[in-house]
Amino acid sequence: MLPSRSVLRPLGTAEIAITGGFWAEKQELNARVILAHCEKWMERVGWTANFDRAADGTVAESHAGIEFVDSEVYKLLEGMAWELGRMPDPALERRYHALVARVAAAQEPDGYLHTSFGRPGQPARFSNLEWGHELYCFGHLIQAAVARLRTGHDDALPAVARRLADHVWDVFGPGGRVAVCGHPEIEPALAELARATGEPRYLELARLFVERRGTGTLGPIAYGAEYFQDDTPVRDATVLRGHAVRALYLSAGAVDVAVETDDAELRAAVEAQWEATVARRTYVTGGMGSHHLDEAFGTDFELPPDRAYAETCAGIASNMLSWRLLLQSGDPRYAELIERTLLNTVLVSPREDGRAFYYTNTLQQREEGVEPDEFEVTDRALSSLRAPWFWVSCCPTNVARTLASVQLSFATASETGVQLHQYGSYAIDTVLGDGRRVQLDVRSGYPFDGEVTVEVGGETAVEFALTLRVPSWARGAATLRDRGVPVAVDGDTVTIERRFTPGETVVLSLPMEPRVTRPHPRIDAVRGQVAIERGPLVLCVESPDLPHGLDTEHVEIDLSVPPRASANGAVVTLRGRADDQPASLLPYGDPVPAPRTAPFEAALVPYFSWANRGPSTMRVWIPA
Ligand SMILES: [Zn+2]
Repeated sequence: MLPSRSVLRPLGTAEIAITGGFWAEKQELNARVILAHCEKWMERVGWTANFDRAADGTVAESHAGIEFVDSEVYKLLEGMAWELGRMPDPALERRYHALVARVAAAQEPDGYLHTSFGRPGQPARFSNLEWGHELYCFGHLIQAAVARLRTGHDDALPAVARRLADHVWDVFGPGGRVAVCGHPEIEPALAELARATGEPRYLELARLFVERRGTGTLGPIAYGAEYFQDDTPVRDATVLRGHAVRALYLSAGAVDVAVETDDAELRAAVEAQWEATVARRTYVTGGMGSHHLDEAFGTDFELPPDRAYAETCAGIASNMLSWRLLLQSGDPRYAELIERTLLNTVLVSPREDGRAFYYTNTLQQREEGVEPDEFEVTDRALSSLRAPWFWVSCCPTNVARTLASVQLSFATASETGVQLHQYGSYAIDTVLGDGRRVQLDVRSGYPFDGEVTVEVGGETAVEFALTLRVPSWARGAATLRDRGVPVAVDGDTVTIERRFTPGETVVLSLPMEPRVTRPHPRIDAVRGQVAIERGPLVLCVESPDLPHGLDTEHVEIDLSVPPRASANGAVVTLRGRADDQPASLLPYGDPVPAPRTAPFEAALVPYFSWANRGPSTMRVWIPA
């Protein structure tokens, strides 16, 4: 991700590293458990062996899994590449090269590479663009190659990706077949490959795929053309709609194309779609998608908590889009949505031990779920608790590649300064446009503690601009001390531009008192309810924290007692209540209200941490 023109420049793996705390634990879990978990499962269910079968000519009779499982192997390879770039590990490197060799062996002489199509006994290549996911899988292979290039290695996988992209150019490039894939993904991948290799044909191909979308090249499907965004050209659309992951990957690719081709109209169109989608189609957790049937966005304000789909991958895709818009504009609102989505949608997915994942991320669990079998594959949306693997297992590998590279979204540089967008403990060592080297040590107990200390490192004094993001929830209550001296904080960023001497510190303090959040009145499903947030975290009430005999369906919050902070969440005052006595056979008509219990205190925990204590009920929105 290195746009040829942008306001902010992303940092590479050599320029930023997590040094401890919350994010170090997550990256360590990914390195130690999640990557190996994904690898082991794909061996177990035969998805990796598909490449061996493709190479030896027997895959038509023995292909394992649905037609897009190649993409999971590629996302694992991307995660491994980022991890190797972050932290050398000879054992992981051997596993990486072994896996790349198996993938490369399945590539055909003309560059085509897919285990489900094109051989005798299989459907013909590109014969089912609506559902076949061939170009989608290619996109993930290309992104895995870009991760390898971005971490300094132009070796086997980038070579495979170039041959594959050249093949796609021959088939779908100028003068070729006018078509797109039913699942966007190759668009951002090709644009990034163009950036990483300097090959302009890949960018042109990305542009063609973006421009062709919405022109009806895909055949009719039951969900309608909106499902794969083929209803309206990207530049004419006003809001994101249809399948959420598809819509968000496409938008990310459209921004890449708009940036690299200097297409202001296209960029403005996607910015407006982001704005409308965030304002009317996004859960308080940052989750997107409220339709289970087609994994799609609902209509405006259709955000039922108990029917939230909020797929983990949609959260990751949303952050891919917001990141691109952040780089182009410097607007901290994009970083704020990234923070909300990362902490409250993406991080919900992996179980604390890294061996099970949420695919969908409900905001209300009405009944205790059933723990899926540790050795069984689950249907994607059926598990009420995290599952080890899914028949469509896009989310675990997406989590793996995201955690392996998450530090890259924490900060950026510009010609004259460094911008901190996300907080935690990490070190930056970068060189600004004119050769000034800036070294920073950022330390924080974030997201639980609101104090962020930035210490200037290096050996000599250096003049630069240090910009810190001030979240909207901290507006008016955040404080900043520069060398111990208070500095006024107003607006959504604060910049200190001066000559910094090694050892000097800037300390940002963000308020961590719990906040009562009310929904927009048009979100009917949560009218009369409140959510409690603390810092960047959305909290929830979970049944293990309630008195025995109560579940989360039978509590109300007493807001006459202000919530107070606990170590990781908040303590609130609740009352229990039985179900009202209905006035008729049906649950309608004026009921006889049930009495409330005496008020009692209960702990709210971070939403991302729920369902780590066995089956439970849970809700984010609490009746007030
Ligand atoms: Zn997914």
